Amino acid sequence: MNDTHDPLPALLDRLETLDKLNEILIDCRRCPRLVEWREETARSKRRAYRDWEYWGRPVPGFGDPGARIFVVGLAPAAHGGNRTGRVFTGDMSGDFLFGALYRAGFANQPVSTHRGDGLVLRDVYIGAGARCAPPDNKPTREEMDACRPYLLNELRLLKNLQGIVALGSIGFETVQTAFRQRGVTVPRLKFGHGALYPLGEGLPWLMASYHPSQQNTQTGRLTTAMFDNIWQKARDLIS
Ligand code: SF4
Repeated sequence: MNDTHDPLPALLDRLETLDKLNEILIDCRRCPRLVEWREETARSKRRAYRDWEYWGRPVPGFGDPGARIFVVGLAPAAHGGNRTGRVFTGDMSGDFLFGALYRAGFANQPVSTHRGDGLVLRDVYIGAGARCAPPDNKPTREEMDACRPYLLNELRLLKNLQGIVALGSIGFETVQTAFRQRGVTVPRLKFGHGALYPLGEGLPWLMASYHPSQQNTQTGRLTTAMFDNIWQKARDLIS
């Protein structure tokens, strides 16, 4: 994506609400590979969800527009967010995340199964580095770059923001890149579970966490206690 001729950043910069941003986001077709994958997955479906009408589009951010904490994941799962249309909703990563948010008082319920399930987030807004489900859960660098204008504008529109929790090293990297694109000098920060960095005067802090993927949670790399520590730390930082 050649930034010089890319009209999207200027269009998004004029928007005044997250709702407006999400209206544009859900029609996005900038990444041909991801458009094809998200739509093919929505057509072919997983057998267990054959009665679902998959969302099959970019998955918008979700949560409290007055949030003090912004959570940045990697990308929607093919049969999770790409099915339900809500980020982290309907897969095991989401179960792990929303359970932890509930225990820390950031969510009104510990489970999240579909967009009408009554889940309300308090003081937390969730986005991702790429908004369309990628093959093998791996967006390319170009796709992350193409999607970053949405993240940049979420950062701008979350007016009460005090901190960012990045889930996984790719989310951690893309947040740093977003701030550099905003003209902030961010040194190369080292990823580590619980690593916490100030980004500068008047800017939110950035905390890294292992991603609550099954690969991490089912191998014990990320335990419930380790993840709860992240949210307790975030709670303490904004209190
Ligand atoms: S990943 Fe982002 S930029 Fe690419 S098509 Fe999806 S919403 Fe658009």
